[in-house]
Amino acid sequence: MIYQRSSQLFIEAEEVIPGGVNSPVRAFKGVGGTPVFAKSAKGAYVYDEDNNRLIDYINSWGPMILGHAYQPVVDAVINRAKNGTSFGMPTELETKIASLAISMVPNIDKIRFVNSGTEACMSAIRLARGYANRDKIIKFAGCYHGHSDSFLIQAGSGASTFGTPNSPGVTQGTAKDTLLANYNDLESVKALFDANKNEIAAIIIEPVAGNMGCVPPKPGFLQALRELCDANDSLLIFDEVMTGFRLAKGGVQELYNVNADIVCFGKVIGGGLPVGAFASRHEIMNYLAPVGPVYQAGTLSGNPLAMAAGLAMLEVLNNDKEVFTRLDEKTSYLENGIRKALEDNNIIFTINRVGSMISVHFDENPVVDFETAKNGDNETFKKFFHGLLHEGIYIAPSAYESWFITDALTYEDLDFTINAIVKVAKTL
Ligand SMILES: *Cc1c(COP(=O)(O)O)cnc(C)c1O
Repeated sequence: MIYQRSSQLFIEAEEVIPGGVNSPVRAFKGVGGTPVFAKSAKGAYVYDEDNNRLIDYINSWGPMILGHAYQPVVDAVINRAKNGTSFGMPTELETKIASLAISMVPNIDKIRFVNSGTEACMSAIRLARGYANRDKIIKFAGCYHGHSDSFLIQAGSGASTFGTPNSPGVTQGTAKDTLLANYNDLESVKALFDANKNEIAAIIIEPVAGNMGCVPPKPGFLQALRELCDANDSLLIFDEVMTGFRLAKGGVQELYNVNADIVCFGKVIGGGLPVGAFASRHEIMNYLAPVGPVYQAGTLSGNPLAMAAGLAMLEVLNNDKEVFTRLDEKTSYLENGIRKALEDNNIIFTINRVGSMISVHFDENPVVDFETAKNGDNETFKKFFHGLLHEGIYIAPSAYESWFITDALTYEDLDFTINAIVKVAKTL
């Protein structure tokens, strides 16, 4: 493979964009080398600026669940664009996608659309704090909820403790209201409730984590959080930006039969355009402006192009009864292929998978939280990543990311991928 033009474009980009990218993980810092520049994409493939064909296992970090340039989405966007791209006035489209999303997801009555997953999570905690009239939130180490201040907090030296900012520019004042617990560790959550009686507005969690690799909740963990929140009059927020409309029509609430109070969406719900959303029951959503006192707004929120793309995507996911089963079967097939390839070559590894989210960790121990996710051998991962890239397989350029499987993948594509992994495994 040649990356000549990509390398040149990266040099040019670095002159005018910090690090040459508009979102840090794209810069390949976790794996070394220079990023591949995308030129076009169709179905399961991305074509780069050097005209290499890559089988894509990131799919824009999740949204392209049915493949790139998916025809119904493309048509919807083109048709809308001809009639105006933004009004700053309400449109019928917004009600249509809202109604459809509400009919697909359990336990929500109203939904508000924003422009990114970050905005959705940021707004959800403001709403939770306003509604509960409390300041503190609990988040889990290793869960990502976008880049707003309250979430850029890392664990202190103790197991679960007050957070400290993990980025300059986030104030101590903000950090003190974000309490950190460990994923899958109920005791760490109970300890925070005990130490902060009547102060905790909400727990926010990725109910299947996808930002430290794929880490499923242990059986009963989400139910136990539900009970803790009920006992303490706190709200339970599911950040389903990654899992929503991917693991099931109704997301993790449906998959594990646990009700959240507020649910955040992004990625798939926008069909590849910039969209986020948060949703809840009437009584909580009516706490938002203009009905209620909690302020939240957006010039381009509910943008007609974005809503058209999202609606076209959700309609297919709602009508195709087999889509989530197909995704699960394809990912399971891939999982088995990867297992065999790595086992045959005596590589130490752990694979985590829920539906169409899967991650390979180069460590023998189970990966159940951020600490165990960090134990993976990053040097092996780097070789794995670059080896696969050379074979025309594009996985996330970081050991802390899930792969996102698309329904556009054929079994030939999966076999091609597994053969590439067999080849690369011999070099690890
Ligand atoms: C991607 C992601 C976000 C942030 O969404 P953006 O659209 O990148 O702002 C928030 N939460 C989770 C779980 C995510 O995976």
